[in-house]
Amino acid sequence: MRPTGRLHIGHLSVIENWIRLQEDYDCVFGIVDWHALTTSFDEVEALQQRIREIALDWLSAGLDPEKSPIMVQSQVKEHAELHLLFSMMTPLSWLERVPTYKDQLQQFGAKGKDISMYGFLGYPLLMAADILIYRATHVPVGLDQVPHIELAREVARRFNHLYQTEIFPEPKDILSEVPMLPGIDNRKMSKSYGNDIPLSASAEEIKEKVRLMVTDPGRVRKTDLGNPDVCVVHVYHKIYNNGEVADIGDQCRKAGIGCVACKQRLAAKLEAILGPIRERRATLLDKPNRVDEILADGCLQARAKTAETMELVREAMGVRG
Ligand code: SF4
Repeated sequence: MRPTGRLHIGHLSVIENWIRLQEDYDCVFGIVDWHALTTSFDEVEALQQRIREIALDWLSAGLDPEKSPIMVQSQVKEHAELHLLFSMMTPLSWLERVPTYKDQLQQFGAKGKDISMYGFLGYPLLMAADILIYRATHVPVGLDQVPHIELAREVARRFNHLYQTEIFPEPKDILSEVPMLPGIDNRKMSKSYGNDIPLSASAEEIKEKVRLMVTDPGRVRKTDLGNPDVCVVHVYHKIYNNGEVADIGDQCRKAGIGCVACKQRLAAKLEAILGPIRERRATLLDKPNRVDEILADGCLQARAKTAETMELVREAMGVRG
């Protein structure tokens, strides 16, 4: 995950999925700060702070560093070395045809930002190096990342073929079913819109964000019949309040519940989920060096794995370490 700053409740299901994977796989989780630079090379002041924030969010949400290392990409230099060596043998056309390449150039261009840089074109190859350096067999991704895993497979295949080796397995994607949570104003949830509910939200902040959530615009008075299908509050009830959602929907349709009460019930559910995360965060913050220690230890463990892979790669390519 890129260190883009504090995480919000929309990220929680991704982390919960990772926590489940920790039980079944030998995992490595990475904060990929070099990737952040591919599009934000000119916004570096807060980068270190964002790395700490994302690590804090992961740990508070329950990711267990005792089970799998949490590393920072720039602290494991072998990622860069493998990326460089891969760049020698990867056809340019493979990178140019990655669907997100042209899309993102256009999206950033529309916002007045030129990201047509060497590093941006190469970021899917850096991602392939991030995966293959651990000789990973599986990568949990969202649908939009599938082409990147396909590229990693192609790079593994080409490397193994060119150098007559079997160093790299071809990684498979594990598609996670992540519910799409809208922001409180029904737009895409984003910190930059201010419509998110941060994982670190206080009880008061949760209540306030829920209070501001967009409801059925056709329901002006409590006595008006409501339509939960067009209400953001109801989307959240569906995900976080499975036991009550059907009843709330019925009550809304016959004006048996008001929006204030409906929101209070949702705020209580969200507090039950985010409260323990907030407590774990406070415990971590009580020991100021704890997060740095966890990251340093994660990087050390990661380096042991990546150094082994690089010895094999250098030998295959005829270069020295
Ligand atoms: Fe939305 Fe609940 Fe109000 Fe119905 S009662 S419109 S579901 S907030």
